[in-house]
Parts: sequence; structure tokens; C-alpha cells
Amino acid sequence: MRMKLVAGNWKMNLSKDQATSLCKRLKEEQVEGVSFAVYPSSIHIPLAIQHLRDTYYIGAQNCATEEYGAFTGEISAAMIKSYGCDSILIGHSERRKLFEETNATLMQKVDTALAAEIHVLFCIGETLEEREAGRTEEVLSQQLNQSLFHLSSEEFLKISIAYEPVWAIGTGKAATPETAQETHHYIRETIRKHYSDEVAEGTSILYGGSVKPDNAKELFSQEDIDGGLIGGASLKADDFIEIARSF
Ligand code: PEP
Repeated sequence: MRMKLVAGNWKMNLSKDQATSLCKRLKEEQVEGVSFAVYPSSIHIPLAIQHLRDTYYIGAQNCATEEYGAFTGEISAAMIKSYGCDSILIGHSERRKLFEETNATLMQKVDTALAAEIHVLFCIGETLEEREAGRTEEVLSQQLNQSLFHLSSEEFLKISIAYEPVWAIGTGKAATPETAQETHHYIRETIRKHYSDEVAEGTSILYGGSVKPDNAKELFSQEDIDGGLIGGASLKADDFIEIARSF
């Protein structure tokens, strides 16, 4: 079933004290009918588990392609799972651009996460150049095809999608509700064509890119938008909670 989900991507932000304060403040608030997730830096995961375990899904922002071994600096999906995490963010545009993660690498990460029995929030999105060249649908289809569409229906239902236009991330320029809805609809129909009505209707598709308290309501009221992946605004508890209240 599609769930209403508001997820915070903390990226590489917050000291230990700041992360603790944010967790304590988030813990005080709940919004009926809305599920929450946070994706802290790996080092803050135990803190998030300690404070938010009862009411939040907790996830990692990345995982290795391999399970164990000589991969200095990497953290595997199995390790993430063993710390009590529920989810892994895979395919964020910052990982694609800054760390040159390709659709093929991301496919491996998805496979290792599912093998560890952990949910995946998979990010897709086009750059401004690609949108202006009329290539948005082609790019999104490729990202889905090359990283996810090898999965069975049963496996795919363990994935949620975050549509994050790269030009909207951290820029303060969110997609308009109409553009976001049109693109979410395209993504859902692509999933329907490849799988089935059941899979298309069972997949949560979140919007990400400059979601703020003042634009969340209109975005979340769109038919095919099931929630949000929130970057900057997730670092401020009041903004994050207000965004969740926009449903
Ligand atoms: C993100 O990085 O996933 C994101 C959506 O960032 P922001 O909300 O800051 O645009």
C-alpha cells in the first residue's frame, strides 16, 4: 500500500550535540496518518536509533556494493541492518554526481540492500540540461530500467522512489506542483507498464527538491505524490514537522 512518508536527509550535517538535540525535538511530535523517516550520517545512526526508534524509520544515506571485505571506508547493507536500520537511500544525485555512481553501480547496491532485507528509498531525477533538452522521461526511464527493473514484483514492492529533479535540490526552486505531478504520473505509469497495476499502486513515490513549509501542502495534494524527501528543511525540527502537517 502507498504510504504517506516524510523523510529527512541530513546529508553530512550536524555535530553529535546538534544531532542529539534534533532527535529529542523530533521525538516530541507526531502527525497522525503520516510516517516519518530520517537518514542521518552513518556516525549518527546509533543516536537516531536510541531516540527515535519507536516512531521513526531510520535509514543510512548510502551502502557499499559488497557485503563484507577489504573495502576501507565503506559500510555494507548487512552492517546497516545489524544496527537496526530499516532503510537505505540509494541513488541520490549527490552520490551520482560527486561520487560518479552509475546506474549499474546503483543496481548492485539495490541488490545488496534487498539481500540484507532492508527497504530502499531510490532516488531518480534529471538535470536542468536534460529537462531543457526534453529528455526528462528518457533519463528517468533509463534510471529505472538500468537499476531497478531487473527486480521481481515482490522485490520491487520493497522499494520506494524519490523523484528529485537535480535542478531543485538545495536551490530553493522546487518544481511546481503541476510539473511534479506530471513527472510522478509518468514514473507511476512506467512502473505500471513494466510490472502491474498492483505494483504501480503499491509504490510510494516521494517528491524531493526544496520542499519547505510554504510549498509542501500544494505538492502533497497532488494525486501521485505520496510524500517528500526533505534535505535542508529536515535540519530544523519545526520546519520538518510543519511539512509533515501539510498532508
Ligand atoms: C535532497 O538532497 O534530497 C533534498 C531534497 O534537498 P533539499 O530539500 O535541500 O532541496
